[in-house]
Amino acid sequence: MNYYTPPMARLIEELSKLPGIGPKTAQRLAFYIIDMKDEDVESLSNAIKEAKWKIHYCPICFNITERDLCEICSDTSRDRSAICVVEDPRDVVAMEKTREYRGLYHVLHGTISPLDGVGPEDIRIKELLSRINEDIKEVILAVNPDVEGEATTMYIAKLLKPLGVKVTRIAHGIPMGGELEYADEVTLGSALNGRREI
Ligand SMILES: [Zn+2]
Repeated sequence: MNYYTPPMARLIEELSKLPGIGPKTAQRLAFYIIDMKDEDVESLSNAIKEAKWKIHYCPICFNITERDLCEICSDTSRDRSAICVVEDPRDVVAMEKTREYRGLYHVLHGTISPLDGVGPEDIRIKELLSRINEDIKEVILAVNPDVEGEATTMYIAKLLKPLGVKVTRIAHGIPMGGELEYADEVTLGSALNGRREI
């Protein structure tokens, strides 16, 4: 039997679909939500819908944006000769916080992971290759240094080298298996400055 009235059961079910939210947390959040003020619930649900509807991927770098082109791609003061390749839009935020990098980005949206059925064609690799022209002097690979990240870095480096562009990867400070998102600004900044050619 279901212990909850249908709208409550549905709210719990929807919340428990979120990452990191188990059934107990979903129940706790659901009870919290129904005790919230009407206007706060309205504001929360509107924020979810607005973010979902307004935000899309930049057609050049695939970072998230609410504009046609993202803030970075459309910023003419950025260094247009370098592209930093990251896994996830959250990594762009992490790199920007270092204030060490003024170039452009390319967000892959994943890494090559045969075990999970993710091949090179499932992430934004061909879109990266199509951005390489004589204006691009360096591609910095800043993918997370785990097994899939290593495979992805090597795969992309192999494709980029024949195009005559300098390919580097961030080096010091990021532990193997570590995630860029959780590295502090100083560590990530020094990793960027210590990048080496591959
Ligand atoms: Zn962009």
